Amino acid sequence: MTIGSTVLGYPRIGPKRELKRALERYWAGRCGEDELRGTARQLRRDTWTALRDAGLDSVPGNTFSYYDQVLDAAVTFGAVPRRHAALGLGPLDTYFAMARGVESAPPLEMTKWFDTNYHYLVPEIGPQTRFTLTDRTPVEQYREAESLGVRTRPVLVGPLTFLLLSKPDATAPGSFRPLDKLDELLDAYAELLGELHDAGAEWVQLDEPAFAADRTPQELAALRDAYRQLGELSRRPKLLVAGYFGDLGEALGVLASSPIEGLAVDLVAGSSTVDDLSGVRGLRDKTLVAGLVDGRNVWRTDLDAALSTGATLLGMAAEVAVGTSCSLLHVPYDVEAEPDLDPQVKSWLAFAAQKVREVVVLGRALREGRDAVADELAGARAAIADRAGADRIRNGRVRSRLDSLRPEHARRGAYDDRRVAQQKSLGLPPLPTTTIGSFPQTTDVRKARAALRSGTIDRASYKQRMRDEIDRVIALQEEIGLDVLVHGEPERNDMVQYFAEHLDGFASTEHGWVQSYGSRCVRPPILYGDVVRPQPMTVEWAEYAQRQTRRPVKGMLTGPVTILAWSFVRDDQPLADTARQVALAIRDEVHDLESAGIRVVQVDEPALRELLPLRAAEHPAYLDWAVESFRLATSGVADSTQIHTHLCYSEFGDVIDAIVALDADVTSIEAARSRMEVLDDLNAVGFGRGVGPGVYDIHSPRVPEVDEVVDLLRAALEAVPARRLWVNPDCGLKTRGYAEVEAALRNVISATRQVRASL
Ligand code: GLN
Ligand code: ZN
Repeated sequence: MTIGSTVLGYPRIGPKRELKRALERYWAGRCGEDELRGTARQLRRDTWTALRDAGLDSVPGNTFSYYDQVLDAAVTFGAVPRRHAALGLGPLDTYFAMARGVESAPPLEMTKWFDTNYHYLVPEIGPQTRFTLTDRTPVEQYREAESLGVRTRPVLVGPLTFLLLSKPDATAPGSFRPLDKLDELLDAYAELLGELHDAGAEWVQLDEPAFAADRTPQELAALRDAYRQLGELSRRPKLLVAGYFGDLGEALGVLASSPIEGLAVDLVAGSSTVDDLSGVRGLRDKTLVAGLVDGRNVWRTDLDAALSTGATLLGMAAEVAVGTSCSLLHVPYDVEAEPDLDPQVKSWLAFAAQKVREVVVLGRALREGRDAVADELAGARAAIADRAGADRIRNGRVRSRLDSLRPEHARRGAYDDRRVAQQKSLGLPPLPTTTIGSFPQTTDVRKARAALRSGTIDRASYKQRMRDEIDRVIALQEEIGLDVLVHGEPERNDMVQYFAEHLDGFASTEHGWVQSYGSRCVRPPILYGDVVRPQPMTVEWAEYAQRQTRRPVKGMLTGPVTILAWSFVRDDQPLADTARQVALAIRDEVHDLESAGIRVVQVDEPALRELLPLRAAEHPAYLDWAVESFRLATSGVADSTQIHTHLCYSEFGDVIDAIVALDADVTSIEAARSRMEVLDDLNAVGFGRGVGPGVYDIHSPRVPEVDEVVDLLRAALEAVPARRLWVNPDCGLKTRGYAEVEAALRNVISATRQVRASL
């Protein structure tokens, strides 16, 4: 009847990334559908039985996905675009065609799942979409779990969140919104709920995180109507609606007064939810799942604090159950799988398996009293105290340096002076050409890095191999005729991990993989203490590259915001403080690059927009510290040193003023696909700096023709004077092959020469 203790979702890629491997084998034609399905079944079985055996009272079901839960919902309810349906493939291959595309049918667009690093596929909905229950995976998986003796609570993307995350398809008229189809979609949900009810499901969880973001009155009204309709169904399981990633705001009252049986709230990211709950009517007869255990970060929960929060909720609802703040999809499987992690740091961490245990302990403590789990509470208390008191998380020098910062540390000289000084130092032609940093990562390069890690080669021979690669890349760029060269980043596995490995205050894991999208996983570093740069991190490579050429070589760094966005970050001080520490480490690196003779330094911030809070009211505070940390990192150099930044997108939206405020001398952005319209947006906010709209779409193997690039540059020149316009690809070349990159860069250079000649 009750929910007791539960988690809102669980990782599914497999503790050893079994699903990733099986998917990639299947896609490469190296295994059949049966083998892939077998791996999937095994992973589901392991998850269900582990969650049950760990003592959860309610085990989530349908959290497995071959690719993405939003794509699953699209397929379940029949929203398969015509181009994919028309391929005439079987169900699984149609699904993968939607996810990955095939020659004749491009995939669905992919975008970030709220403010996480997970990416979902964007359903395409039009007037012609016919929502019907087409795929019964949620019911089949309910039965599959039941046959193993586990009664699950199937989890579905809620109907509102599904439509709010969808986009109008190509046939839709301008006035069409996916939400127009809500009633039709609700009929399909009703049918599925009926079948789940008949299969024996007692509860179903509907995820509505879209309401942790700002919503219009119409959207809130749609939420009210939808859950009234679903609530009134006679044949249905009990409904648990989960809203996470922040406060539900007005949606809290709407849901509490709707005829659902349960509401799951995020008490970690939602800073005002506890207070909001006390004023909400309609909770008294419901189950409230208190999201007390952080589903998105890796720290052990302060169980005492969580229990006091839980205790204040008792009495507000018919049942107060304990849960995670959101699905555990966003954390790695098991900290016990990390034998090489520093034991003290490890004792502060909880990955998915440990968080399940925390939920169980909290649930028992709330029901039976603290004494029932006294040992575990004491263990958690000791770990929290150890972490809070640990010397290694504090560094006096960094702290006093931060205290002594003054506004001028984040300010450079006037741009006009900088421009003159840089022109004098660099002597670049109009429309200077450059790349974003990385060159293709060959198997040799990857092998050399792996060999160094495993100890098969020593540091000296590794260094030689990297130097050979740098020689090749520099020679190639000179021969092609680029103006500002790069060393190619062969020494970097990843643009954040590389820096994390060279800074104190970070730990790395071996198996701490988290799904990013489909079969792709990332292994975020763990930022646990004050950040210190023990020695230069990139200077030896940049300096070596600069010695090989008379042209300027651009130093290449990752910015503070991006380092935070792609790590698990300490939660014991404001993010802004952590950002400033990282900024100081980067600032020192920029300074050392300058001292080593590097005249151009690029600090990449592709994640600037990613960390933007879901609610507009919180944007200014975020953008303040985000911009300040970038400026702190880049303002310690002479006027003559040119600072570049790179952002991986061209739709700036809410961050456009922040991009101006970064005060970089040159900003490179994505643009090849969206044409050059972004330049007008920049002009509209008075952006008067160098700008490099990408003229070569590196997300595709296609080599752009000279004429195409000429057209793009001419279009760009309509908006930006030649002295401010840079010519570069959209992003780093790391994932591309040399043949296409060479051909593309040659075309870019010929196009630039043509356009220059006509200036
Ligand atoms: N300098 C990085 C590279 O070229 C930038 C990558 C990125 O923006 N994601 O790979
Ligand atoms: Zn990029």
